[in-house]
Amino acid sequence: MTAQARKDFEVAIVGGGVVGLTCAAALQKAGVSVKVFEAAAAFGEIGAGIGIGPNAARLLQEIGVLDSILQRTGPDELKTTGFIFRPGVGDHRAVYRIPTRDPDDAQLFIHRATFLDGLVSSVDPAIAHFHKRCVSVTDSPTNPKRVVLHFLDGTTHEADVVLGADGIKSSVRKYVLGGSDDRLSFSNTVAYRALIPYDKLKAAGMKTDLTEAPTCFMGPDKHFIIFPINNNETINVVAFAARYDIPIGAEKLPEGSPTVEYVTREEVKKVYEGWGPDIAILLDNMPEKPSKWIINVVHPPLKNYAKGQVVLLGDAAHGMLPHLGAGAGQGIEDAYFLARLLSHPETTADHLEDVLQVYSQLRHPRAQMVWERSRNTGRIYEGHGPHGQDWDRVGEDLARAYPPVWHHDMEGDVEVAVTLLRERGAFQAVV
Ligand SMILES: Cc1cc2nc3c(=O)[nH]c(=O)nc-3n(C[C@H](O)[C@H](O)[C@H](O)COP(=O)(O)OP(=O)(O)OC[C@H]3O[C@@H](n4cnc5c(N)ncnc54)[C@H](O)[C@@H]3O)c2cc1C
Repeated sequence: MTAQARKDFEVAIVGGGVVGLTCAAALQKAGVSVKVFEAAAAFGEIGAGIGIGPNAARLLQEIGVLDSILQRTGPDELKTTGFIFRPGVGDHRAVYRIPTRDPDDAQLFIHRATFLDGLVSSVDPAIAHFHKRCVSVTDSPTNPKRVVLHFLDGTTHEADVVLGADGIKSSVRKYVLGGSDDRLSFSNTVAYRALIPYDKLKAAGMKTDLTEAPTCFMGPDKHFIIFPINNNETINVVAFAARYDIPIGAEKLPEGSPTVEYVTREEVKKVYEGWGPDIAILLDNMPEKPSKWIINVVHPPLKNYAKGQVVLLGDAAHGMLPHLGAGAGQGIEDAYFLARLLSHPETTADHLEDVLQVYSQLRHPRAQMVWERSRNTGRIYEGHGPHGQDWDRVGEDLARAYPPVWHHDMEGDVEVAVTLLRERGAFQAVV
C-alpha cells in the first residue's frame, strides 16, 4: 500500500490485537491519521501458535508488514506444505492432504507473540494509548459527524471514525447494534491448548512426522489441530471437544464465567481416552496444567457491521469457530479493506458513513460465509459431515472447504467498492 495525501479526518481504533494493529499499520503506511486505544498495559498475545492462511498472508505482504514478522523467526514459519488429515483414533494414516498452489499458497504458522511483535514494530509507538478500556461509544454532543469513546478511567476521546477491533467481547458492538448486545454465544466447544518441545515427543516414540505439514487428527465429536512453530522446535497443540446435542447459543454460561482456566493433564487425557498411540503421547507430554478455553462466537450474525461513523472488524464483527484457522485471517482482510477504502484518494470526512456502509456491504457476505464454513468444517473433522466417520472418504468433503477461503480477490472487492461509492454519489466519477 502506498502513502496517500493526508486526510481531513482522524481514525480511532479500539483494541490493539492482531486485527487492530494490522489496520493501524496499513492506515499509517497510507498516511491516514490513526490512534489505537488498548485496554491492556501493553500490546500482547497469549502463549500459543496461530496459522495465517494464504489469503491473509498475501495481504500482510501487501501492507508491508510480513517481512518484519518473518525477521523475528525463521523462514520455516512460512509453509507451502498444505494440511494433512489423519484419524485420531486407530493408526493415524494420512487420509487427505490439501494441495497447495505453491508458492502462492504460503501460510504462516507462528507463535502469536512473535506475530504480534512484528506488527507492533510496524506501528509508530506514539499512536498507542494503553490502559484505555472503552466502556461505551456515543455521538458527539457538538458535532453530529463525530463520535466519542468513553474509557473506564473516566477519560474520553473524540474522533471522526471509530473502528471497533476490540475482540469477541467488544464494547463497540453495542453501539453498532443500537444499544444492547446479545450476540456473544457459547459455541458448545472447548479447546485445550499446549506448547510441547518436539524433541520430547520424538523421544517418547511419536511416529507421525509433525513437521511434514500442519496436521488435523479427526475423531468422533473431537479433533486436534497440530503444527510446529519456532523452526520446528515446538509443537502447538489445540484439542477441541464439542457437544452436538445443543444448538449454538442455547446454553448460556453463568455471567462472568472465565474464558480460560487451567485444568489437570489427567482431565484432558480422560476426554480423549481410547484415541490412537500418537495422541496418547501428545497428552502424556502436555504440561501438568494445560489451558482450557471456552470458544465463544458472534451469533446470530450481525446484519450490518457499521452504524454512522462506527464500524466493527475482526472478532468484534464475526467471531467464529476456529476450524478453518481463518478467524484472524478474516479480520486481516477486514483491516486491509477498510484501510484501502479510508485511504482512497476520494475519501473525505464528508462521506465516511458511505465508505463504512460499503465496507459492511462487501465484507459481511464474505465473513459470514467463512463463519458458516468454519462451523461446517469442524463438523466434518468430528464425524458429522456428509461422510460421517468414514475417515477414508472425508477428504471428499474437505476438498471443497478451504479453496474459497484461501483464494479471494481483494483487489476486485476494492474495485466494486469504488464503483458502489460512485453510484452513491460519495465518490465523484473521474471523467
Ligand atoms: C483456540 C483458538 C485457535 C485459533 N486459531 C486460529 C488460527 O490458527 N488462525 C486464525 O486465523 N485464527 C485463529 N483463531 C481466531 C483468532 O484468534 C481471532 O480471530 C483473532 O485473535 C481475532 O483478533 P482481534 O484482533 O479481532 O481480537 P483479539 O485478538 O481478541 O484482540 C482484541 C484486542 O482488543 C483489546 N480490547 C478488548 N476489549 C477492549 C475494550 N473494551 N477497550 C479497548 N481494548 C479492548 C484486547 O485487550 C485485545 O488486545 C483461533 C481462536 C481460538 C479460540
